[in-house]
Amino acid sequence: MTALLSPEIDTVGELTDRCDRCGAAAKLEVVLTSGGDLAFCGHHANRHRADIAKIASKIRIEDGFDWAGK
Ligand SMILES: [Zn+2]
Repeated sequence: MTALLSPEIDTVGELTDRCDRCGAAAKLEVVLTSGGDLAFCGHHANRHRADIAKIASKIRIEDGFDWAGK
């Protein structure tokens, strides 16, 4: 049995987006359950990890980034 609201997590080679909060290189991208998507740098991905897990249907993490929300 899979947990309700548990997002699918993929590891990708490189992300080309910029963090939506500060403009740094994105380390994590979120596809929202409501559609749309967001990108976060390492700092913001970790700071907002609880919110990201709640709103994400899918998460892409750059290879080598150790996300605290995993
Ligand atoms: Zn940021």
